[in-house]
Amino acid sequence: MSSLRVLISAEQIQTRIHELGAQIDRDLPDGPIYLIAILKGACFFLADLARAIKTPSRIEFIGISSYGKGKTSSGEVKLTKDLDVSIEGYDVIVVEDIVDSGITLSYLMKLFAQRRPKSLRVATLLDKPKHRQRPVEVTYRGFEIPDEFVVGYGLDYAEDYRNLPDICVLSDI
Ligand code: 5GP
Repeated sequence: MSSLRVLISAEQIQTRIHELGAQIDRDLPDGPIYLIAILKGACFFLADLARAIKTPSRIEFIGISSYGKGKTSSGEVKLTKDLDVSIEGYDVIVVEDIVDSGITLSYLMKLFAQRRPKSLRVATLLDKPKHRQRPVEVTYRGFEIPDEFVVGYGLDYAEDYRNLPDICVLSDI
């Protein structure tokens, strides 16, 4: 039987996101900033982060192939939905739910760097550094978490649990 344990509460998430928003405003006061979220997991973080940023910002989405129905990465990244706009000359923040191996973000950062943005940074709500395989420079990090499988606040297990308000550890599946 599977069990859920709250790791980070909805309230803690909001407090931290407001700190990150203020940090982004200080770093990028002019705008517009392109906030690019990776579907689907980062959509709640994007919605809250965008509202915590005062600098004019635009939102975009990209799709990539993910873990599918399992709890471990296939090690492969495939773009399933590209940007609808050019990011050349803009400040860009790639918004991710969680960085684990770093494979997804290192692929995306290389791809977006080729498109010549003015600046390119990463904001991730969660960082799970234990199994990092590719280095990823994270400028805005919500929380560093231990090596456990988490769900909620956008994160799923086989498409379930995304709508939980807290970030929870899912065990014994
Ligand atoms: P990476 O490419 O860094 O290994 O993995 C990033 C992606 O793996 C995340 O966007 C997320 O989809 C998935 N992932 C990694 N760890 C977890 C986890 O603990 N829970 C969930 N639900 N997804 C995870």
